[in-house]
Amino acid sequence: MYISKSFIPILKNNPTEAKIKSHQLMLRVGMIKQSSSGIYSWLPLGFKVMKKIEQVVREEQDRVGVQEILMPTIQSAEIWKESGRYQDYGEEMLRIKDRQNREMLYGPTNEELITEIFRSSIKSYKSLPQLLYHIQWKFRDELRPRFGIMRCREFYMKDAYSFDLNDDEAQFSYNKFFLAYLKTFKRLGLTAIPMAADTGPIGGNLSHEFIILAETGESKIYTDKRIFEVKSDDIKIEKKSLTDLRKRYEQYYAVTDEKFNEIEFNKNVLEKNRLKTKGIEVGHIFYFGDKYSKPMDASVDFQGNKEFVKMGSYGIGVSRLVGAIIEAKYDDKKEIMKWPISVAPFDCAIIPLITKNDNSNLEKANMILKKFNLNKIQGIIDDTEENISSKIKKFNLIGAPYQIILGKKSEENIFEFKEVDGDSQNLSLEKIIEIINNKKRN
Ligand code: ATP
Ligand code: MG
Repeated sequence: MYISKSFIPILKNNPTEAKIKSHQLMLRVGMIKQSSSGIYSWLPLGFKVMKKIEQVVREEQDRVGVQEILMPTIQSAEIWKESGRYQDYGEEMLRIKDRQNREMLYGPTNEELITEIFRSSIKSYKSLPQLLYHIQWKFRDELRPRFGIMRCREFYMKDAYSFDLNDDEAQFSYNKFFLAYLKTFKRLGLTAIPMAADTGPIGGNLSHEFIILAETGESKIYTDKRIFEVKSDDIKIEKKSLTDLRKRYEQYYAVTDEKFNEIEFNKNVLEKNRLKTKGIEVGHIFYFGDKYSKPMDASVDFQGNKEFVKMGSYGIGVSRLVGAIIEAKYDDKKEIMKWPISVAPFDCAIIPLITKNDNSNLEKANMILKKFNLNKIQGIIDDTEENISSKIKKFNLIGAPYQIILGKKSEENIFEFKEVDGDSQNLSLEKIIEIINNKKRN
């Protein structure tokens, strides 16, 4: 792909309306465009990144045995009246009437709809557990949309739901998501800490928020620093291993604002281990038993008895993660974005010096791109006649993890190659392809 033909509207300077660095960068390199308050279009660069994040989220849901479905964005008010939340949800819910004057709404979450789907098909405990997810747009009419796509009104969310026969089995389901979340965020290059959290309008009493540390985050957090050292590798998907995993985290004090208690914090955490800081909520898991299954009559037959199923729900802010990764990986002083290769919009930028009289470097760039395509490496060529240093600056912002620079003295078979924030090396194209592909595999 040529940058001159791509839709990447880069701004010369930082947009002044953006207060945090993710919002600044996303506008600066044209990842998003606001269409109205808290509502955005996703342009090619932003959309590529979001789709890659979505795929990582999907793979980790699939790995713990969750089945993908797709529910609509528009829901009927009827089911929300059954659960009692039509009243409770308040102003954040966007309520709509159709031409028959029926009450509809744009889904802010899907507990009611999934419970309705479940109850109409599953009758026997032998079909349990059922774990289902979808990745779909949500609408919440936030009082103060801000920070670009971090707190907006229309956003993209993965939400999953679990149905089990009893508490013990439901905890097992909960713990599968606990593990899947740790793995997902790790693959996205983030350190997310599970913290005991309030359940808010979803309800229930067991809940963890997954938070990444960031000065610009909206969640206040209070934690024992040692929680950052907990390992979650090589965990088997079985009850005991997963229970142990949760215990390993829960031995440390780690809570958000609503659950914070100064006396407990000081009692449980040695002074040298105390950390009070801010973070971004990227995921949230809840266990709420029969809060919805009872009023909505979702039950199974178990040994002749009617048992209301025990449910949990599990959200990941897919679109918010784009901003969260930028907050974690963008050096706004040096103006260098370091996308993890798992979600980078391009793997490698090819930056040739091109002049009016000499486009031999462009030919080399074309040859490199061809080889990249054969090896499933996503490259982009800067085919403009700008000078090399302004091209490099541009790609530092776009943040492809690698750059090949074809300058004045570039050779036929050996190329100047660097990581976006690293030093140059001269390497053969074969070696470059090997390095990029190794990185992609890890
Ligand atoms: P918050 O406390 O940030 O308002 P929430 O607790 O209301 O979020 P959940 O219902 O737990 O949100 O939603 C699951 C995930 O969806 C959140 O962890 C977050 O990553 C994302 N999310 C929620 N609200 C928004 C929003 N307004 N804009 C972007 N992402 C959001
Ligand atoms: Mg939440």
